[in-house]
Amino acid sequence: MRPDILNSLFAEISALKGVGAALAKPLERLGLARAVDVAFHLPVAWVDRLIVDELDMSQSGRIVGTVLTPVEYKAGGGTRAPFRVHATDARGNYVSLIYFGKNSGWPRKMLPLGEPKFVSGKLDLYGQELQMVHPDVLPVEEAASVPAQEPVYRLSEGLSNKRMRDLVGQALDRAPDLPEWVEPSLLDRRGWPKWREAFGEVHGKAEALKARERLAYDEIFAGQLALMLVRGASRRRRGVPIQGDHQLRNQLKLPFAPTGAQQRSMNEIEGDMAQATPMLRLLQGDVGSGKTLVALMALLNAVEAGMQGAMLAPTEILARQHFATLQKMLTGLPVNVAILTGREKGRARESTLMGLADGSIHILVGTHAIFQEAVQYKALALAVIDEQHRFGVAQRMMLSAKAERTPHLLVMTATPIPRTLTLTYYGEMDVSRLDEMPPGRQPIETRVVSAERVDEVVEALGRHIAAGGQAYWVCPLVEESEVSDQTAAEVRAETLRMRFGDAIAMVHGRMKGPEKDAVMDAFSRNLTKVLVATTVIEVGVDVPNATLMIIEGADRFGLAQLHQLRGRVGRGDKASVCLLLRGNALSETSRARLALMRETNDGFRIAEEDLRLRGAGELLGTRQSGEAQLRLATPEHLADLIDSARDDARLLIERDGGLDSPRGQAARTCLYLFERDAAIGLLRSG
Ligand code: ADP
Ligand code: MG
Repeated sequence: MRPDILNSLFAEISALKGVGAALAKPLERLGLARAVDVAFHLPVAWVDRLIVDELDMSQSGRIVGTVLTPVEYKAGGGTRAPFRVHATDARGNYVSLIYFGKNSGWPRKMLPLGEPKFVSGKLDLYGQELQMVHPDVLPVEEAASVPAQEPVYRLSEGLSNKRMRDLVGQALDRAPDLPEWVEPSLLDRRGWPKWREAFGEVHGKAEALKARERLAYDEIFAGQLALMLVRGASRRRRGVPIQGDHQLRNQLKLPFAPTGAQQRSMNEIEGDMAQATPMLRLLQGDVGSGKTLVALMALLNAVEAGMQGAMLAPTEILARQHFATLQKMLTGLPVNVAILTGREKGRARESTLMGLADGSIHILVGTHAIFQEAVQYKALALAVIDEQHRFGVAQRMMLSAKAERTPHLLVMTATPIPRTLTLTYYGEMDVSRLDEMPPGRQPIETRVVSAERVDEVVEALGRHIAAGGQAYWVCPLVEESEVSDQTAAEVRAETLRMRFGDAIAMVHGRMKGPEKDAVMDAFSRNLTKVLVATTVIEVGVDVPNATLMIIEGADRFGLAQLHQLRGRVGRGDKASVCLLLRGNALSETSRARLALMRETNDGFRIAEEDLRLRGAGELLGTRQSGEAQLRLATPEHLADLIDSARDDARLLIERDGGLDSPRGQAARTCLYLFERDAAIGLLRSG
């Protein structure tokens, strides 16, 4: 239960004065549902207010404050036309104060004719007329209290900055004094204000660095504390200690020796699995670093011990590919692998479910269908999640809850995540890193090409396939609509077909499963030469003969995503090329980003840069899902503060694991404030 002290801040936004039907949409678009969301809606910029004696056309576009005397009212024609108050400044210059959608009572009351008032707002020039829309009005004596700077908020159509400021003010009024959860010495050392003061400051003045920092810290601290509680809870669970005898693993016929990094990771995993507390390990490795082999070894370790393993993939295509890969690697071994996705139906599904229940299936590969209630394992000992950022913590927990004894958990992630984010999002896990690529990889040459030269690109594609190569052609991401992604791909496929005929295949996210498989299968068997795709191919697909990657509208993708896409090529021993087609009107940032892609293949460097440019939500693909988003902390804050937040959280839990002390109680409030309260349920009772 949320502490009562937070109730007023967590009230629905409709509890704020002036929030009616008209504001519902714009507020919703901004994701502002409760007063607390408004309080967390920090200014994105500040403008200086110009305090003047006299208005002047050159001030238009600025926030201006001056003393005006209302001289005349002009009611609008229809009901929708605005109410106008004509006013003059000290020199007799005219300005028109405009009020939309209000009955005239309010402006008449605020601006009685002939009475000078201090008026402040954005000055606009409309034709030859100076205007202010919905300015603030104050008694002249109070002019001195008007701040010299005004916050600018992210807005949405139908919501003015002035209204936003008013809502923020109301939200702040609802913010209570909260007990202090920050370690006093840290508070001192950093010179941070108290929580409530900090909120007032970040909305009240441009230079509120300390206050900003403190709020960021609170958010990061809540995250770290929650992760540690999750970790603690999972450490208290009973797992299944497993020690395979290597009998199956020794029978594997690998065409290569594991890299040092693979070997090290395998050892770490084996060590974890031998423990009675369940493993909670993250395997980080760039595209192509060989995570599959590491996963397979862990799965075999479970099977050797007479138990089962499950491997979860984020997409159907990837699940099928993993299934095929595992089957191939396990040829000749007495290991039974099955697949389960939303598409397995009827008899096949029944028999898989039975095989899992009676233990005759040793390894299950699938999509989230393997979470469903109907799926019962005889002895699930290991779950491998090939995450690619699409699964959240919640699903991880769900999976672990399936077995009576918590299975060991291995999460694999392909985008190299900067250290700060690893701590932020996976802080509850141990980490193995595949920081060494299998030998013999050819570097990928990346070129940035203007979209105007698409004809030359098509020519190059023609030469590439004439020489026996295969290629991917990824179509631009069209915002907000998968359907449009699909259209873009269809149109591109059509134009390419006019030239290359049946060599062109296409795959997109809306395609039915069997149809998609058939397309992928034909491409991987070199029956088709060019795969036109939306980003569904982003993950996993492995066709070594495809050595040309063309990405249309590259400037619209995130860096990490481009890196993932590029990783589809360069998988064999032939040199690969990646062409990034860019639009014309590129911003400085887009230019810099594409240049970085050209310059480096280092996933960690790209990820760091992507984090700096776009923020954590975009990088981890959590912005839409709303999970684990940081609302107050910037990447710079993360880098600066995560270590002390982590230490502080750890220390608190060591001293007061139940969060019962006054400071522990305060920390609970902090968890509620940032909606990490699910973690509170995991507290050791007593
Ligand atoms: P990831 O899943 O990490 O992107 P994969 O597991 O798909 O990478 O491996 C990429 C390719 O590298 C596969 O074709 C795999 O067979 C190969 N591979 C894996 N480990 C090695 C190794 N130690 N030496 C050579 N090739 C390897
Ligand atoms: Mg993989």
